[in-house]
Amino acid sequence: MLSSTMPIRVAVMCEKCERIYLLAHPDSAKRIQFTHGSDPHPRYRLTCICKVERDFDRAQTFPYRVSEHICTRGYADREEYDPLPNQKFSVTRRNPQ
Ligand SMILES: [Zn+2]
Repeated sequence: MLSSTMPIRVAVMCEKCERIYLLAHPDSAKRIQFTHGSDPHPRYRLTCICKVERDFDRAQTFPYRVSEHICTRGYADREEYDPLPNQKFSVTRRNPQ
């Protein structure tokens, strides 16, 4: 079902229900808020539809393979996305130059 030609989007996952929210989607602005703090790195708070809140930063966002439909909708449930192995991805797919 999931095809290698499907687009890749950076998203943050709710650790409880495993729904992911695409960072670049306008609807995510309603669920992902910048939280001011003393941390050196910007931190964000995700409020999931399941009511769980999760604080995260950019290091906790990962690329996922999703369908065009998901790109339009802005989120995906567990069976609707394919996590990319982030570490492996950057090592094996890196361009030589
Ligand atoms: Zn959730």
